[in-house]
Order: sequence, then C-alpha cells, then structure tokens
Amino acid sequence: MDTHAALYELGKKRLESLRQLPARQSVSLREKLEQSGITRRDFMKWSAAMTAMLALPLPFSNLVAEAAELADRVPLIWLNLAECTGCSESLLRATTPDVSTLIFDYVSLEYQEVLMAAAGMQAEQNLEHAMKQYHGRYLLAVEGAVPTANNGSFLTIGPHAKTGMQLIKEAAAGAAAIISVGTCSSFGGVQAAAPNPTGAKGVQAVIDQPVINLGGCPPSETNITGTLMYYIMFGKLPALDMFNRPKWAYGARVHDNCERRGHFDAGEFVEVFGDQAAKDGYCLYKVGCKGPYTYNNCPTERFNSHTSWPVLAGHGCIGCSEPDFWDTMADFEKPLGRQLLHGLDATADTVGAVILGVTAVGIGAHAIGSIFAGTYEEK
Ligand code: SF4
Ligand code: SF4
Repeated sequence: MDTHAALYELGKKRLESLRQLPARQSVSLREKLEQSGITRRDFMKWSAAMTAMLALPLPFSNLVAEAAELADRVPLIWLNLAECTGCSESLLRATTPDVSTLIFDYVSLEYQEVLMAAAGMQAEQNLEHAMKQYHGRYLLAVEGAVPTANNGSFLTIGPHAKTGMQLIKEAAAGAAAIISVGTCSSFGGVQAAAPNPTGAKGVQAVIDQPVINLGGCPPSETNITGTLMYYIMFGKLPALDMFNRPKWAYGARVHDNCERRGHFDAGEFVEVFGDQAAKDGYCLYKVGCKGPYTYNNCPTERFNSHTSWPVLAGHGCIGCSEPDFWDTMADFEKPLGRQLLHGLDATADTVGAVILGVTAVGIGAHAIGSIFAGTYEEK
C-alpha cells in the first residue's frame, strides 16, 4: 500500500471511531452551514481547497468534509497566555461567517477566554473540569508566550493567580496534541524581544511534549483551521519542518510565490514608499521586505477570507513566522545588510534543500546575493 493509500485508510478508521462518539452540538454542521446561507456545493468547494492546501490528493476531500462534520467530537481547550489576542482575531474577523469560522464555532470548544461567557471562578472551574473529563483526549491550542522569569510571576490568570507556566504544564499533561497558535506561543514573539525582561518563551521551550508551531503574527485562519482539520482527520501530527511548523503551510518561501516576484527578477524596486514604483506594484525588497527569508503560505492563502496580505497591501513582509524575527529581521523597512543577507540565505538554502528539495530556493537566494552584492548601501 502506498503512503497516500495508507494515510487514507488511517483517516477512514479515525473518522469511524469519532463517529461512535456522541455529538456535542445540538445542530449538525450541515444545518449550521445552511442557516448561514452556505450551500453544500460551497462546502464541497471549501473541502477541495482545504485538501489542496494540506497537500493531499483530491480524493481526500471526502475525508476533509467528513472530518469537518465530526469536528464537535474532538474537545478543544484554547489557552490565552502573554499575547495580544490577534491570533483569535485572525480566526474570527471574517466579516461574514465562512466555512472556516463556522467550523471553529462547531468544534467542541471547552475553554477559550475570549469567546466564553464564563469569568473568574466559574471559568477556572470550567477549565479544570474539561481537563479532567477529557484527559488524554483533548487538543490543546495555546496563544501567547510563557513568561518564565521570577518563576513565571509576570503572567498570572484567574482567581487563584496561576502562572502561565503552571497552566501550560497542567494543560499539556492531559493533551492528546498541542498546537502553538502564533509566533508568541511558538517562539516567544515580540514579548521575547531583547532584552526580554519577563523571560518570555515559546511553549515548546517549557514542556517536554511535541508541539506543532503555527508561526505568524498572526497566522492565517486557514493555517489554524487546516491544522485542526488535519488532527481531527488523522489523530496525529502532520509532517513538520525544522521549527516544528507543518510543511504543507511553511514549506515554501514567501518570496517564491509572491505576485511581485517578476519585478524582483527584473530589478524593478520601490525605492521609497509612495513613489511611482510603489504605485506600479514593484518589488518591496529595498523598503525592507523579508519575504526572501520567510517560510509561509501568505501569498497563496492570504488573510481576511483570502482577500489580501501585507505585500499585496503595499508593505514588505516582516518575517513574522520565523523564530526571533523581532530581533533578526529589524529594521522592518530597510533591507538586511549584505553580511546578514548572505548568512540568512545560507540558512534558507539549507532549509529549502533539506526539507523541500527545491532548487528554486537556491536560485532565488543566489539572485538576491548577486543583485545586491556591491549595490546596496545602508541608508
Ligand atoms: S502571535 Fe502576534 S497576533 Fe498572535 S498573540 Fe502574539 S502578538 Fe498577537
Ligand atoms: S522581496 Fe518581497 S515583495 Fe519582492 S518579490 Fe520577494 S517577497 Fe515579493
């Protein structure tokens, strides 16, 4: 049996076992979609698009659709630690509910501070109850960094003032899988910028279990939903890159799928924001775009129901899905110096060659080096 056939069988068995569990929602997803004016045809189109995004062959779209309909069988606990709530916003900001937001609404969300009605003592009891009742079965999503200095006292939550460190350790102990949603929970985020007085760290730095990192500040709603769908469908982690990010989302450089790439290759650059080149949609490298050093599917998936992303809106990529981007990618509106440029490109080449085997990555990196070698002067 080939790899895809084996994966398909695994998905079928997993969904069969989920189907045996009691439904946790009073209305089915199908009814919920109908109530929101989303047709079955729209839903199947969404399943096919999600299947393609997950880098699976089209026949898997049946499994994706079925997994979405069984999403209420998988308990989800979502912790908010040291963060800005932008990751939750990313998922929920659609002006009209789309399939992704409705599925998030449909999963068995046992605890989420932004969305739940409970507060104070009652909220804490809800969390404890969910962790006990679904021990070993729940999916744990974490938004925000974990402050570790002073024994974690820079972040305390709830009536018993539990620290973020306590909460994440307790919640992780009973989790079937852990997803760090956003760069804060993946790598520490802006809270971990030097000199990092609170000792902010990503989740993987404070617990011993495997973690899926969804880098991005914030990550797109499709990357969050896609990861949920993958876990619901197969009950296991997807293939990950060297920073534990799903390869299907973070396997290609922003630069290699960017709609301005033709201008980069032609040597057509915006020199100053607002100049004619900016109006003509030229490449933003010289005004600081970090797309050549950043792995994410922003150009293809975009944000806000696929409508736009920073480069389309006219600002360069700031590299927010990469570890330490807040220090290593600054200044966000200037190109990196030549020395750092070559150092990062060496890393990018290695990641690309080892993980993807994509020679275009090397070609892109070489193009940057050769175009800017000797021509870029620090402004
Ligand atoms: S990753 Fe960015 S958007 Fe998400 S919580 Fe952290 S600062 Fe906010
Ligand atoms: S440097 Fe930035 S704007 Fe230019 S092609 Fe690459 S990703 Fe696009």
